[in-house]
Amino acid sequence: MADAPENKTAAGVKATFAIPVGGGLLRAEAIVPRGPTTLTELLPIIRNVEGAIGARVAQEAEAAGTPISCGPRCGACCRQLVPVSLFEAEALSEWMHSLPEETQSALQARFHRSLMALRDAGVVEKILSDAWVAGGDPVTQLAIDYFHAGVPCPFLEDESCSIHPIRPLSCREYLVTSSPAMCQDPAKYQVAGVEFPLKLSRTLYMLGRKIENDPRGWIPLVFLLAWSKSGFRPGDHVAGTGEEVLKRFLEEAMGTPPETKGAATAQRGS
Ligand code: SF4
Repeated sequence: MADAPENKTAAGVKATFAIPVGGGLLRAEAIVPRGPTTLTELLPIIRNVEGAIGARVAQEAEAAGTPISCGPRCGACCRQLVPVSLFEAEALSEWMHSLPEETQSALQARFHRSLMALRDAGVVEKILSDAWVAGGDPVTQLAIDYFHAGVPCPFLEDESCSIHPIRPLSCREYLVTSSPAMCQDPAKYQVAGVEFPLKLSRTLYMLGRKIENDPRGWIPLVFLLAWSKSGFRPGDHVAGTGEEVLKRFLEEAMGTPPETKGAATAQRGS
């Protein structure tokens, strides 16, 4: 639960909080806006908390003798279906609209190329069919088909993420300990993923489902431009003072159903 804020500053309100993560408590503090705020505007704080969870997970993997094998200029996992919460989609759309027109046009062309390649591979049709939404084999098959289409994320440049500081939580939560070579074909090899004790992406998906009445609460990243044309602003539906919005998010996060335990194999998903 979010504790009461300790200090008030001119710029905002300092909130301290503790989240149960694995067997311990993750203590953190953040300056949240004093006035009206949306959940989308609090994403930088949520990314920082996820970063702290990821650092702890990486330390534990190292201590167990199975260090994280993800490294710079390895974009193998950036050819997978990437879930993006509605709030992150809103933030990414706003960011893209703030770019110079020339850069926007280049990005639009990349999104178009990716969508056309996925359409030609029959993957867009499968995504739109929604047969896979309930989970199980269809979603696994969709993930395999998507990967085998070999279409890079539109934000991938020289095998590196061009939006690293603002990349989606699902990208931050995808860490593996097996050889990077195995990521070249996750359908063929048993890629060993690291299990996050708390995935904040799931909290965002859950809040998205509540406001959108959509069984997923997220969109495939490659649909971002098409989605942004709707003008939908999900953050407006989870709004209040900075303290109120952070408190609501943390309460939802602590009520998020835990990951299924067991061998962690690497696959993105909701
Ligand atoms: S957003 Fe970045 S990290 Fe995520 S799939 Fe795209 S290029 Fe890779």
